[in-house]
Amino acid sequence: MTRENMNFDVIIVGAGPAGLTAAIRLKQLAHLHEQDLRICVLEKGSRVGAHTLSGAVLETTALDELLPNWRQLDNPVQLAVKKDRFMLLTENYTIPLPLPPQMVNEGNYIISLGLFCRFLAEQAEELGVEIYSGFAASELLFNDQNQVIGVKTGDIGLTKEGNMSSHYQEGIMLHAKQTLLAEGCRGSLTQNAIKHFQLDKESCPQTYGLGIKEIWEVDSKYYQRGQVWHSVGWPLNHSTYGGSFVYHADMNQVSLGLVVGLDYENPSLDPFQELQRFKTHPQIRKLLQGGRRIAYGARTLNEGGSQSIPKLTFPGGALIGDAAGFMNVPKIKGIHTSMKSAMLAADALFPQLQSETVAECSEYTHQLHQSWLWRELHKVRNIRPGFRAGLLMGLCNAALETYLLRGYAPWTLSQKPDYECLKAADKMPVIAYPPPDNILTFDKLSSVALTNTMHIEGQPNHLKLINPTAMIAINYKTYGSPETHYCPAGVYEILYNKKTRAPRLQINSQNCIHCKACDIKDPTQNIIWTPPQGGDGPNYTAM
Ligand SMILES: Cc1cc2nc3c(=O)[nH]c(=O)nc-3n(C[C@H](O)[C@H](O)[C@H](O)COP(=O)(O)OP(=O)(O)OC[C@H]3O[C@@H](n4cnc5c(N)ncnc54)[C@H](O)[C@@H]3O)c2cc1C
Ligand code: SF4
Repeated sequence: MTRENMNFDVIIVGAGPAGLTAAIRLKQLAHLHEQDLRICVLEKGSRVGAHTLSGAVLETTALDELLPNWRQLDNPVQLAVKKDRFMLLTENYTIPLPLPPQMVNEGNYIISLGLFCRFLAEQAEELGVEIYSGFAASELLFNDQNQVIGVKTGDIGLTKEGNMSSHYQEGIMLHAKQTLLAEGCRGSLTQNAIKHFQLDKESCPQTYGLGIKEIWEVDSKYYQRGQVWHSVGWPLNHSTYGGSFVYHADMNQVSLGLVVGLDYENPSLDPFQELQRFKTHPQIRKLLQGGRRIAYGARTLNEGGSQSIPKLTFPGGALIGDAAGFMNVPKIKGIHTSMKSAMLAADALFPQLQSETVAECSEYTHQLHQSWLWRELHKVRNIRPGFRAGLLMGLCNAALETYLLRGYAPWTLSQKPDYECLKAADKMPVIAYPPPDNILTFDKLSSVALTNTMHIEGQPNHLKLINPTAMIAINYKTYGSPETHYCPAGVYEILYNKKTRAPRLQINSQNCIHCKACDIKDPTQNIIWTPPQGGDGPNYTAM
């Protein structure tokens, strides 16, 4: 990226399905109306897909609308789901459950989201979208009328002391009529915009889950190409929300993972360790026997439902995709919903881009409320909050909402923020996890090694503590340092002074895989995740 001509019609932060869809749709409209639009997409990963992690089973509704000819293109959406299984696990047994309609995957495809994003990026570039990978947007730019007028990219090459190293490159100011925030779940600029414009004033608090995923190459004896398995129950106890997924992808590869609701109460719960335990279930052990783990990663996802979607527009910009929280939780799907929100935003925005400036595109919200996306999310809004009363009550409430009320309940269940849910360590049992066997189960550091994570040394720590002393005074003393458990990359460590035995928190920020769990779950909201230098972080190949 050069410093000349940094004015765009639209800047899109994030090259996930939402950001790329918005870019494609805007360019399609521009071509249709024979207009020229300059669209820029910034991606903090070293390349498109490097930071992308999903299951993933793709519902193609939004893709069909965006690229009706996608089947004729060279695309990575090839493996149709052949069979769904939904199960309740106990430690030793598997109990088949009836498949709820939301979990029927007939007509859907098992994909790698990373490869799918690269496919979307190719389509966008063919239309003339400028995609800059390795550039993190680090702050929103405002004019004196409190309108967002673009973003600044992060400085590159600052040392820890704030001095410039030999490869220092100052952040670049990029200006646009509109800035679309498509950072995915818990985006950092998104959080700033929500706070600055009080976008969540009238919505319920957003809630989240943490998804930990591994890809295995398995023995063909047990592999069932095209099958999709979901389970609830073990290894999680009945008061902890979550479930597993096992997707039999192509080439003897199986994507498996565990999503744990971040509203859990026990500070010693460790979602990474829960996934390791999940693999020891007889059914999963059998599937993985003789296999080889080839990839690992983790990412948070939104679970708040339509009641937690904040106001979507602000002067100079809008939120699209998971940045706003368009996840359909009972379906465990957010790709098609993110894409649809991006198309709605693009459609609403395009006519306004003809003027010199665009104030606020409220038409986007209006069009959203008329769309299938809103109907889909509104229908299932009470299912996830119903699990706050435990697994059995949650399943009963889900059945009531699905089969009897069909989404027309006259009430909407609310929820409290995840960081308020932890109980003091001395009020909860300590969960003891077995050591890894390095065949089926592993530790965090050897897992992080599979993510190809890299952070250039010397830059300021991207994990900021508002009050460093609280990490011992509150987190350690009251909660037993929950960050040392929930972080799936072992970034947080308590070390003890050899002489005094005084504890101190060590932050190994170079291992951070950008899942954003610490930004969400820290009990006093003391940890602020900020984007490190562009290109840093995990380098997933096909997650
Ligand atoms: C474990 C797991 C399993 C899932 N399974 C499924 C599934 O099977 N099916 C399904 O449909 N959905 C699934 N989802 C949800 C789905 O992945 C998301 O809903 C979807 O990816 C959201 O798309 P997005 O474009 O809004 O955000 P993302 O896909 O998160 O993309 C955001 C992009 O923005 C970039 N970015 C963020 N901040 C910045 C910044 N400041 N500057 C520059 N770039 C930035 C990121 O690097 C990333 O590339 C799953 C999610 C998880 C975590
Ligand atoms: S430091 Fe935070 S964002 Fe990074 S991997 Fe750990 S929990 Fe996730």
